[in-house]
Amino acid sequence: MVYLVGAGPGRADLITVRGAELLKTADCIIYDKLANPALLSYARPDAEIIHVPKRIGSGSCKQEEINKLLVEKAATGKMVVRLKGGDPCIFGRGSEEARVLAEAGIDFEIVPGVTAAVAAAEYAGVMLTDRDYSSQVVFITGREAEGKQQSNIDWPLLAKFPGTIVFYMAVGNLDFIVDQLLANGMSEKTPAAVIANATFPNQMVVTAPLNLIDHKCRQEALEPPAIVVIGDTAAGDAKLSWFMKKPLFGRSIVVTRDRRGNADFAAKIIRRAGNPVEFAAIKIEPLTDTNLFLQTLARLSEYDWIIFTSPNGVAVFFDCLRNLSKDARVFASAKVAAIGGETAAKLAEFGIKADFVPTVFTGRDLAKQLLGFTNLQSRKVLLLRSQLASNDLVDLLQQAGAEVENVPVYTAVKEKSDCAWLTDKISGGAIDWLTFTSSSCVRAFFEQIAPGIINSSNVKVASIGPVTSEKLKNLGVGVDVQAVEHTTDGLLDAIEESEKRKA
Ligand code: SAH
Repeated sequence: MVYLVGAGPGRADLITVRGAELLKTADCIIYDKLANPALLSYARPDAEIIHVPKRIGSGSCKQEEINKLLVEKAATGKMVVRLKGGDPCIFGRGSEEARVLAEAGIDFEIVPGVTAAVAAAEYAGVMLTDRDYSSQVVFITGREAEGKQQSNIDWPLLAKFPGTIVFYMAVGNLDFIVDQLLANGMSEKTPAAVIANATFPNQMVVTAPLNLIDHKCRQEALEPPAIVVIGDTAAGDAKLSWFMKKPLFGRSIVVTRDRRGNADFAAKIIRRAGNPVEFAAIKIEPLTDTNLFLQTLARLSEYDWIIFTSPNGVAVFFDCLRNLSKDARVFASAKVAAIGGETAAKLAEFGIKADFVPTVFTGRDLAKQLLGFTNLQSRKVLLLRSQLASNDLVDLLQQAGAEVENVPVYTAVKEKSDCAWLTDKISGGAIDWLTFTSSSCVRAFFEQIAPGIINSSNVKVASIGPVTSEKLKNLGVGVDVQAVEHTTDGLLDAIEESEKRKA
């Protein structure tokens, strides 16, 4: 079986639910250049992944080879996902692939995707249809099939088209397209807009009257992939340009947690139109195979309160439960507390609603709030957290009469990442922000990159809270913003505020 799946126009989360579902179960994924590679994170670890960069020129993968590959893979009984940029059948040769499969007697399903024209226009605030000035819209390819003798494009008709004209694959050919339209009587004042890298943080929009648009695109060094919109609507309406107005639009923001934490954080940055740059400074090492932990796990129901202080702790704990074929019932009647919304959200992913969630960040504040919430005199309290956590929380809870056990579930160690690559970017001015979400990230990052490199650059530093800021200051690193709410969302809010002040 072959699924021809539309990957959507760029941003990975613009794929359909059906498309994502199929990627998760595929035996084999065949994807091309315009499909966002981030979508491969849905793939099973053992899935076969084949990249077919179909391009013009040498080193390209010919369409016939792709067709053959699809048939071969499906014939061996595999579930194949053919992932194509945008919609699979809008100028995507999905129709040819479907025909080849039909002829070979192979079942297929077509999963539509958001096509580039629609996404580019909407992310640029250019409305393809509008009750007042565009009741019709036409999609045209700016590059017709190679070797085709006669053009299928009816230029005289297009030049008089009373609506919106959208060209795909038109950047290299824009001068020719404009000439044809003008020669056939279209007004040279007709508004035109070219939208490149639509939906990405490097989205670019160039607008000009038709006769000047090609020149302006060259002047601004606009590069494909881009969509060309011609018609009254292309004049745009500044009020409708919502994406590029976001405060983090186009900002390059370095995330410095472990790989899993970076991926979660990066997704949030992308949702705010920023450009995440992932630098894993630390690696989370589970300590869930120790005797101490395993014995504690067997007695979990004896505790009155179990406290998680970070999403990492929750993730590692539940990884271990899964490996042991256990589930959330291990908590039995014990009450669960989580420091901060993110830790609580992680618990919720596993079906646990925390009984108490202080809105603060430090162990000291947690203890104060928890003691205000409930009497812990002679209560059995278990802390499941990082080996590196400070003793404050333990001391305070003990002073309040609780019987406290502190069991480390993970530790953070330094991860060696590609520093030269990052320092080049920082020195070259290609990075706007560095973010730190814990003191272990700070320590590990600055063991690899000298503070001087940051201080002498234009990069700004954002910290999640007082403990992390303190660590930065001790290393001589200036902190530009500190989150008010000590979560990754709070950190991004603080960066947004700073960007808004600048603007
Ligand atoms: N099947 C795809 C189109 C493939 S043709 C779809 O439905 O979107 C390739 C053309 O799509 C590019 O030349 C460009 O015109 C357009 N395109 C694809 N991704 C784009 C993007 N992120 N921004 C602007 N145009 C894009």
